[in-house]
Amino acid sequence: MTEFRDTPVRVTIGKRQSPELLEDLCIALRGVAVRDGSLPNSEEARDAVQEVVLIAKELEVREVRTTDRIDQLSQETGWLMDQLLDDCRKFPETIPYVRESDGIRRYYRCQYCKSAERPEDDVHYSACNACLQKIIDSIDSLEPVGGTVLFRTYNTDWRCEHANSETVLIGVDCYEEGFLGPGECKQCIENTLAQRRQKTE
Ligand SMILES: [Zn+2]
Ligand SMILES: [Zn+2]
Repeated sequence: MTEFRDTPVRVTIGKRQSPELLEDLCIALRGVAVRDGSLPNSEEARDAVQEVVLIAKELEVREVRTTDRIDQLSQETGWLMDQLLDDCRKFPETIPYVRESDGIRRYYRCQYCKSAERPEDDVHYSACNACLQKIIDSIDSLEPVGGTVLFRTYNTDWRCEHANSETVLIGVDCYEEGFLGPGECKQCIENTLAQRRQKTE
């Protein structure tokens, strides 16, 4: 069972003036938006969600209209904050991931096309299905997709179980973490894509 601590900040929610509380709701929503990637494990992120829910509830009790201010916040940030608020209310059944103005959850945005989402469990490629297909095709065309590297290697630590020294492999060149090894062959990635499609069928 989760215990929510009453931090001093929260104790004062009921005592704050409504205009101030409305601004605090905006700050709290921003707080969730910048921490959504660490939900549901991070206590700090869970606290941020809790803060949003408590303030929103208080404003509701006071019958304070929040729509216009939240719309304005969405304009300011480029994030869909009304939806984030709804998702905060559904936590922990729903994890509140902030959506950018095109509706894509920022945390899951495909790092290649930047216009679709990757599956939630894809931590290696961070690619949507269409981009993963392009990565597979690049093994035949030998023209790497930006952010990936095509290579062959004699080092068995750097290749998958199907590969030999002649096999063309894909490596992910991660902006933040550098080269993510070992490399995978066409068969590996085709298997991954087939598994994804099975899951969504
Ligand atoms: Zn993509
Ligand atoms: Zn393989």
